[in-house]
Amino acid sequence: MITDVNLRSEFQSRLLNWFETHKRDLPFRKKKPNPYHIFVVEVMLQQTQIKTVIPYYHRWFKTFSTVESLAQAPIDRVLKLWEGLGYYTRARNLHKAAKMIVDEFGGKIPNTVNELMRLPGIGRYTAGAISSIGFGKPAPIVDGNVARVFARLFNVKKDILNSDTQKYFYELAAQLVPEKEPGTFNQALMELGSLVCISEIPKCEICPVRNLCLAYKNKTQLDLPVRKNKTEIKKIEMVVGIIEKNSRILIRKRPPYGIWGGLWEIPGTVRTKGQTPEEALMQEFQEALGLKIKIQKTLPQIVHHLTHRNLMIYPYVCLISEKQKRGQASSVARMPVPVLRSMPKNTRWASQCNLKRFSFPVPHQNILKRCLTQQVVTFR
Ligand code: SF4
Repeated sequence: MITDVNLRSEFQSRLLNWFETHKRDLPFRKKKPNPYHIFVVEVMLQQTQIKTVIPYYHRWFKTFSTVESLAQAPIDRVLKLWEGLGYYTRARNLHKAAKMIVDEFGGKIPNTVNELMRLPGIGRYTAGAISSIGFGKPAPIVDGNVARVFARLFNVKKDILNSDTQKYFYELAAQLVPEKEPGTFNQALMELGSLVCISEIPKCEICPVRNLCLAYKNKTQLDLPVRKNKTEIKKIEMVVGIIEKNSRILIRKRPPYGIWGGLWEIPGTVRTKGQTPEEALMQEFQEALGLKIKIQKTLPQIVHHLTHRNLMIYPYVCLISEKQKRGQASSVARMPVPVLRSMPKNTRWASQCNLKRFSFPVPHQNILKRCLTQQVVTFR
């Protein structure tokens, strides 16, 4: 605990002075922050790097300039704008939160941590960031960067992911955050973790708070932070089938929950034990879509990394088996074209032009791009 008031104020002023001259110039760092902008960008930054978020940040406010415009937008439009940013539950929660802000808070972003935490997708860290940066409230925040800085600064040798350690870090953060400029202070703390007290080898030689750092004093900075029980990364194998027919390809909307919920996909499935990828694909097309298919061509595999999962995707170009009976038209992206009988409502035959209207997960976008550039799919 930081009982010495002088040390606390020395830490604050050293950190704030350093931040003033060394902070990165980011579009959402404004003298007068807009709480709606902070709200959106903090959700975008959950599990995503700043450089990835910046183009999305600019695009977002051209389309949804106010929380009302976001609340009124159809979810498909929100997901389309989020396309490529990953973790799509964030976009759906952002949309739900915007509706709640309009319905329950009169269109004004709430400014306290407790009220903010009532919004879907807003945890303690994000609520603290919005409250302190957006509204200037002295709310403490502890993200991964801050936890690492604190572990070293206070020489904490306990697992930083442990809930007791997190609680302790929040107590430290609450003691350190000043009444004046709490948002700037919180950003400075995170910036120190991003630029100086980095995870690999901390740059102690240029650290503005080196004289106050217990890890530096005890030469333990390379041993900290301690992380136990790292979540095991699972390997998942998926298989997808590209079918082109009448200058259109078959796409399917995923259920609104789970991985890539609500996005469109090249139809496919997860390969289970004991199945070859081809068997898994043929079974999925037969059972879920009522289509008998033949594998025409095997495309190169795609590897995609998520936080706790590594996906290996096997794409195939397929043909509908001659034995498959033809039937009536079904729902199609704008223009009706003949399709096969009993196609589920969540499927479409999309032309090349229409494909742009649908949001796809990044690996599916990559497969489609590759198919087009290599003319595996011609849309002719
Ligand atoms: Fe991190 Fe080194 Fe600064 Fe301590 S002195 S806070 S270990 S960069």
